[in-house]
Amino acid sequence: MNLLWLQSGGCGGCTLSLLGAEAPGLFETLGGAGIRVLWHPSLSEASGGEVLDLLARVETGEVALDLLCIEGALLRGPNGTGAFHRFAGTRTPMIDWVRRLAARAHYCLAIGTCAAFGGVTAGGSNPTDACGLQFEGTYRGGLLGTDYRSGAGLPVINVAGCPTHPDWVTETLMAIALEGLTTQDLDAYARPRMYADQLVHHGCPRNEFYEYKASARTPSDLGCLMEHLGCLGTQAHADCNTRLWNGSGSCTRGGYACINCTSPEFEEPGHAFAETPSLAGIPIGLPTDMPKAWFVALSSLAKAATPERLRKNAVSDHVAVPPTIRPTKLR
Ligand code: SF4
Ligand code: SF4
Repeated sequence: MNLLWLQSGGCGGCTLSLLGAEAPGLFETLGGAGIRVLWHPSLSEASGGEVLDLLARVETGEVALDLLCIEGALLRGPNGTGAFHRFAGTRTPMIDWVRRLAARAHYCLAIGTCAAFGGVTAGGSNPTDACGLQFEGTYRGGLLGTDYRSGAGLPVINVAGCPTHPDWVTETLMAIALEGLTTQDLDAYARPRMYADQLVHHGCPRNEFYEYKASARTPSDLGCLMEHLGCLGTQAHADCNTRLWNGSGSCTRGGYACINCTSPEFEEPGHAFAETPSLAGIPIGLPTDMPKAWFVALSSLAKAATPERLRKNAVSDHVAVPPTIRPTKLR
């Protein structure tokens, strides 16, 4: 299958993340799945006229476009012209290239939250009028419009994340190459369910602290980051704590709160990322699937039952109180 990758309004972090694909590396993985990279702006040698010639042949259908990957938000400004971002070497706005190529693509993938929903690029006053391929924040539409379907009959596949995990990209591409994707494989925001049916909370090493609402006060503390430090892991759709990054890490493992970067509008939560807004001591953003009354009742019970070990360790940057050694009495 032929893959073409274009970069629009983003930081390039999703490509950088992709290069971290391991066991095996990126090119072995793609090659093993029968995926040929026609061109990638950072990874390919071809440039200038060679690339324009390739794009022309893709546009006419002479070269098949099986997989179109777009990284970065689509910049529609000023006034809908797209002139803020012209494809280098052409006078043509990137949004026009993307529209024309998307019409040829068998599968169209938004790589990263910028391309999916607008992401960081669309934050603030959004002077470039940035949007995602088929979403603008939580609203459907974006550059290509709600009715867009690729040649395979699918909407844009939103491999969201800021950056997106390399495996989310390679596994989505491999799944397509192996037997194709269907709309059943995508969630309500068109993210691959392979990773979006999980929560960041799953597998977080701070779960024991979460259960007792034994909370960290500063980022270096061992406790749960939800109550005071803005962690949205109980609402964030991603498998970061079971799949891990670079084989061993995640935001919460590194002491930083999950900011829900796979979701539309994560870039503007309405409060500082590392703070938890609360009302009468109760966090406003409650865990997914949990009614408020239950949360209030359970957390006050849990706090009352918090073991001394967890209470002390939660606000320490190392294990201050080790677990008690106790015979199991099973023999
Ligand atoms: S999604 Fe995040 S990492 Fe990827 S291009 Fe946008 S800002 Fe950069
Ligand atoms: S730090 Fe976040 S992800 Fe980890 S247990 Fe607490 S709420 Fe869940």
